[in-house]
Amino acid sequence: MVSQVGIHPSVERLFPPAVLRDALSDVDAEVRVVDTGAALGECDGLVTFEYDAGFLSAGLDWVHSIQSGVDRFPFEELEAHGVRLTNSAGIHGDTVGETVAGYMLQFARGLHHHRTNQTEREWSYPAWDSAFTLRGQTLCVVGLGTLGRGIAMRADALGMDVVGVRRTPTPVDHVDTVYPTTELHEAIGDARFVALAVPLTDRTSGLMARSEFEALRDDAYLINVARGAVVDQSALVAALRSDALAGAALDVFETEPLPAESPLWGMENVVVTPHTAAATHEYYRRIAALVRENVRRLNDEEGLANRVV
Ligand code: NDP
Repeated sequence: MVSQVGIHPSVERLFPPAVLRDALSDVDAEVRVVDTGAALGECDGLVTFEYDAGFLSAGLDWVHSIQSGVDRFPFEELEAHGVRLTNSAGIHGDTVGETVAGYMLQFARGLHHHRTNQTEREWSYPAWDSAFTLRGQTLCVVGLGTLGRGIAMRADALGMDVVGVRRTPTPVDHVDTVYPTTELHEAIGDARFVALAVPLTDRTSGLMARSEFEALRDDAYLINVARGAVVDQSALVAALRSDALAGAALDVFETEPLPAESPLWGMENVVVTPHTAAATHEYYRRIAALVRENVRRLNDEEGLANRVV
């Protein structure tokens, strides 16, 4: 039985801890906001944004990450300490899908330039041949899980030709051709847009490096909503500087916050967003639903949903 579920203060990065606590007032356990001090030791489960080594020695049975990506968590150590880990995959298709549609529309219609001009009070016409429509353009989505499918569905609705990449190349709705990871270069070679939506793992770290940028069209745009380390950032900067890439929309970075000295800040054809592609005022409700379901499962001695470790 779960008697206490803690909410770690680090969830503040996405919503106030008390909002989640109140949303979980109906679960069959006491829910309280706890730090890594003594109170943590009284909890069976913990809902958190950050990982802290103190979680290992606290006697927790279960830790829930309020993100889908759990690359910051040490799987082997958690397992060795008997701590199960669940993530929040399955809830970001609409939010990230809309953000990526927005990035692509912005580049196609030149909205980012107009916004920059507006800050200078400048009425400036773009080059006659710079604007295009998304209809008929090809998008390659690398990673076809919740994010990838949310992106593909919207791109299809906008009239784009959608291809994708996953380890198991079985068909996916709204994706014309699904390539295995071994055919990444073929998959990205014809694309006007490449959207990265894979988890960060040993296999995806540096997935987009120099040879992948060389495989891209010169007028291609890269979108990264996965994790910063999926892209070799210096190879990206080199590609942008040498006009081997038309632009990039980046929500995630090797170092976050993106350091002030990063050249990416100053590039006109780069759109930087602060890891907010999945943000919504309803985020806490979706987390509450996942936590509520897993408390029920634990109490009914069923396997945890979204279990990673
Ligand atoms: P899912 O688990 O739903 O999907 C991941 C997909 O990636 C799977 O379909 C998997 O397919 C595919 N995949 C895994 N490894 C590879 C590989 N080596 N090459 C190609 N495809 C691969 O996760 P989500 O869609 O929820 O999230 C994906 C990642 O996006 C998260 O791990 C997180 O890092 C990031 N994210 C970022 C957010 C943001 O705010 N920017 C919000 C949410 C997530 P298959 O098994 O067939 O390979």
